[in-house]
Amino acid sequence: MTQKILDFLRARREQNGDDGPCLVVDLDVVRDNYRLFAHALPDARVFYAVKANPDPAVLNLLAGLGSCFDCASVTEVEQVLATGATADRISFGNTIKKERDIARAYRLGIRLFAVDCEAEVEKVARAAPGARVFCRMLCEGAGAEWPLSRKFGCDVAMAPRVLERAHALGLVAHGLSFHVGSQQNDPGMWDGALRAASMIFRDLAERGITLSMVNLGGGFPTRYLKSVPATEVYGHAILSSLRKHFGNAIPETIIEPGRGMVGNAGVIEAEVVLISRKSDEDPVRWVYLDIGKFGGLAETMDEMIRYPIRTPQDGDATEPCVIAGPTCDSVDVLYEKVPYPLPVSLEIGAKVLIEGTGAYTTTYSAVGFNGFPPLKSYVI
Ligand SMILES: *Cc1c(COP(=O)(O)O)cnc(C)c1O
Repeated sequence: MTQKILDFLRARREQNGDDGPCLVVDLDVVRDNYRLFAHALPDARVFYAVKANPDPAVLNLLAGLGSCFDCASVTEVEQVLATGATADRISFGNTIKKERDIARAYRLGIRLFAVDCEAEVEKVARAAPGARVFCRMLCEGAGAEWPLSRKFGCDVAMAPRVLERAHALGLVAHGLSFHVGSQQNDPGMWDGALRAASMIFRDLAERGITLSMVNLGGGFPTRYLKSVPATEVYGHAILSSLRKHFGNAIPETIIEPGRGMVGNAGVIEAEVVLISRKSDEDPVRWVYLDIGKFGGLAETMDEMIRYPIRTPQDGDATEPCVIAGPTCDSVDVLYEKVPYPLPVSLEIGAKVLIEGTGAYTTTYSAVGFNGFPPLKSYVI
């Protein structure tokens, strides 16, 4: 939360009255985050994960700071190119691509692609001849609040074969990637993946294929309710693992922060629409906001991400509440299994501030479910 955001919200309220929930992102915080990453891992190139927040103002700022970009679709590639950043600063990091989208990206100048199986390698070889590819390895998501499961990556035993196939088809077998799970609270989690990566480097070197890059992925956390280790703690842990496993042959490295780059730069202002109880004896109040799972807070799924919520009555006595969104869908409940303490004095109509919402909110917002407009966003 910054004074700049609070001033903006006050001015917005005074100018146009009530206007529904909105996200406000402070670019100064994004700039600070970029510098923290660049400082913590000075030899790694930063590829911002565009999906976390593709607002043109965020992309323009990062392009100006010298960032590169990790894109998941041709549309994201075009959004980055619109900033003036050149195609050599973009990787197409999604392992699941239509062949015609690979071809479109190739025509736009993209030469760096992620793969995790031979079928995808074959598509890239046909649609982007001669391009560089890196193979995504499966990675345990332990320690992450938003683990990425087994959807992306292949077993470490399979990765060498995928890269050999790329080499045989005339692509450049460039390196390896992994993602330790989003909101990863344990800086030690990169170590196991780096050990596996170093073994694959050696294995392929013996077969005449020289890899040159390790993509360390995202996973760097933002602060929600619990405090998280500082970016430089991640930097130290990763550097020491690189030294341990690669010795004096440390490869080129890439990081792909999404949440860690923009999460703490954004605050959502929402309004309390209703407070009620389900029976006279019910110890838990239900607090309904004008934003829920369909309005941008999809990461409350399974109550995984727990956002800090500030109210005008903070400091008063609290009691556990169920927090729900405004739509007519019963899954639109944010916190129920673990009720959320909110002030007893909180009233209908109060404005609340949901912190740490700069990442993974606006683009998750439905286009108009139940007639609620998509989440508004202001980047200041
Ligand atoms: C989503 C994603 C990221 C960003 O992850 P965060 O945990 O938000 O930092 C990085 N790399 C890839 C390939 C991704 O899909």
